[in-house]
Amino acid sequence: MFDFLMTDDQKKLRDEARDLASWVPKELILAMDREEIQFPHEFLSEAGRRNLLGIRLPKKYGGRGLGWVDDIIVAEEAGVASYSLACLWGVGADIVCEAIIEFGIDELKQAVVVPLLKGETFAAECLTEPRGGSDFFGAATKARKDGSDWIISGQKRFIVGAEGADWFLVYAVTDPGAPPHKRITAFMVPRTKGVESKYIYGLMGVRGGGAGRLILDEVRVPERYALNGINGGYDVFVRMMIPERLGTAAMTIGSVRPAVEIATRYSSKRKAFGFPIMNFQAVGFKIADCVMQLDAARSLCYTTARAIDSGTVHAGRIRRMVSQSKKFVTETAWDVANKCMQTMGGIGYTNVYPLERIVRDIRLSMIWVGTNEIMQLIIQNEWYKEFDKVLSKENVRDVEMDAENADKEEEKVYE
Ligand SMILES: Cc1cc2nc3c(=O)[nH]c(=O)nc-3n(C[C@H](O)[C@H](O)[C@H](O)COP(=O)(O)OP(=O)(O)OC[C@H]3O[C@@H](n4cnc5c(N)ncnc54)[C@H](O)[C@@H]3O)c2cc1C
Repeated sequence: MFDFLMTDDQKKLRDEARDLASWVPKELILAMDREEIQFPHEFLSEAGRRNLLGIRLPKKYGGRGLGWVDDIIVAEEAGVASYSLACLWGVGADIVCEAIIEFGIDELKQAVVVPLLKGETFAAECLTEPRGGSDFFGAATKARKDGSDWIISGQKRFIVGAEGADWFLVYAVTDPGAPPHKRITAFMVPRTKGVESKYIYGLMGVRGGGAGRLILDEVRVPERYALNGINGGYDVFVRMMIPERLGTAAMTIGSVRPAVEIATRYSSKRKAFGFPIMNFQAVGFKIADCVMQLDAARSLCYTTARAIDSGTVHAGRIRRMVSQSKKFVTETAWDVANKCMQTMGGIGYTNVYPLERIVRDIRLSMIWVGTNEIMQLIIQNEWYKEFDKVLSKENVRDVEMDAENADKEEEKVYE
């Protein structure tokens, strides 16, 4: 985040987050990337010990009680050391715990949120199924009522932290006959009888974060573990898409930032034809573009965080801004990471520098938490709704009429 926009407290918070990123042992990052470690408990314990989990969550449950701007300050710094660690930082504390705080009973707040924010336990978020992630409301995981319990069966895949999680936020169909938005329930499921996780994917990047398959075979959970009640999953889903997508945007900025720093340093030292390569515009201009792109991405992210914090922006516009942040930041980061690699020549493609890992890691950002095609769909839908309902009725100059023949209605043919 931009330091000149931060308060003194926010600068302190950023420095705390930077300390955490500096604490991360290099061997942990490498062992995760080699998949020798499947779940880095030690990172979450350390983040919890430093009270850096749950930045926006109430202090009484162990959070910091701060806002979205503060959250993305920490998310960006969390992304610097490792994209995979930043994901785990966000999923449990920022997503699942927020769902419980907003929609769950006190028993769950005590059983899940309190230990998780201390870094003692972890909770995974389980939406995607083998049959598809984008078509979330077509979920095939089902739950049937049995007395005061529900019995869940189905499979989820690509679940970050499936390996290592003690709790799972599982979306299941509870009323198959109802319209899509009224048929799904968000259950908190402990790791109990019938729950099995499998670490089976050979991921291109973001390794070592326990991303796996979750199998639910006749898993019994009490009805009170349903967040927002039975068939109330839609509201939970919509709310969670904010931390999922804005959090992803912020940590992606953090993850690509070192690429720019490494490429800047390299291009000012590396010589070709007797000159530092930064002097060749083909190189120096690339770095200039990267810096500009990163600042633009950060500006969008920050503005979105401010919009949410203000509490004055309507839900549809927030949805659009969050989706714009996710799409723009992740595509920008991908472009930036590739430009940085290009700047480094052949050595950028090797593991002498971490650029190749950064490139592998952040490619995922355009796919998960809703693909960028889905982001585009949301932006399109929300923009047209907003334009129709709000913007077209605002008291602003009607520039459409500032044309010589603007009054020729017979020429304005629409069908
Ligand atoms: C490493 C990793 C970690 C992940 N972590 C989690 C996690 O913790 N929890 C979780 O629930 N999920 C997780 N995911 C899943 C991720 O969110 C999904 O992969 C993603 O939402 C896309 O779903 P899909 O893979 O089923 O692709 P599909 O939904 O099958 O989509 C395939 C393609 O079709 C396009 N498409 C589909 N529908 C439309 C449409 N209507 N308009 C335009 N284009 C469309 C998509 O954009 C995409 O390009 C993770 C994935 C990975 C790889």
